[in-house]
Amino acid sequence: MEELLLRSEKLTTVGQLAAGVAHEIRNPLTTLRGFLQLQQETGKLSLRHNDIMLAELDRINLIVGEFLILAKPQAARFQVKDVRYVLGDVISLLDSEGHLKNAVFHTRFTREPCLVSCEENQLKQVFINIIKNAIEAMPAGGNVTFDIDHPHEGEVAICITDEGVGIPEDIIPRIGDPFFTAKETGTGLGIMVSQRIIQSHKGSMRIASKLGEGTSVTVLLPAYQGEAE
Ligand code: ADP
Ligand code: MG
Repeated sequence: MEELLLRSEKLTTVGQLAAGVAHEIRNPLTTLRGFLQLQQETGKLSLRHNDIMLAELDRINLIVGEFLILAKPQAARFQVKDVRYVLGDVISLLDSEGHLKNAVFHTRFTREPCLVSCEENQLKQVFINIIKNAIEAMPAGGNVTFDIDHPHEGEVAICITDEGVGIPEDIIPRIGDPFFTAKETGTGLGIMVSQRIIQSHKGSMRIASKLGEGTSVTVLLPAYQGEAE
């Protein structure tokens, strides 16, 4: 399996990101404006135009929503949590969505405690982003396996594996670039945002993938070494 360590050089400054967001939002806005102008001139708007306008509005909403996660107050509240329960909560949250898409979830968690110091909602967002990608990679459904373990002393590994389409080798280097997406309705922000969050937790993220077989995303976090709260 081709393995990729997502590098931190990918992390651009907030200013560059903001410019990117502005650019990405301008396209759907131009479409919306054009259609409204057409309506003004002709007095009508077809159902198809209406559908496109709704889709463009949804897209703007999605981009702004994903981007806002990064703009949350900097003074994040770090707490000691057992990552098995943090991921467990997210799995329950996405269970019905997975069911709908024929994704079957399997958990293989260590029985040892897996304490990490984390900003829980941000860490949940990372897992949501990864699991959504896993589900989206399996249009006909399949298994998603969640492993949590201590590969080394002082480290917690969370591994999420799907049986999806996999990632072509030539696009692997672009994954995590802001706005890079291979999906028709993707935003290309999920991995970039996740990487930033993981970095603020002093962790790292790796992706291993094989075309036509599946993808495995591993998040490594430093284990909390002090006393449990
Ligand atoms: P988006 O999901 O909006 O496209 P992401 O940043 O979440 O943006 O992902 C970027 C790209 O990485 C995706 O478009 C897809 O090509 C690829 N990718 C990420 N996770 C997976 C996966 N589990 N299986 C296949 N491709 C993936
Ligand atoms: Mg995504």
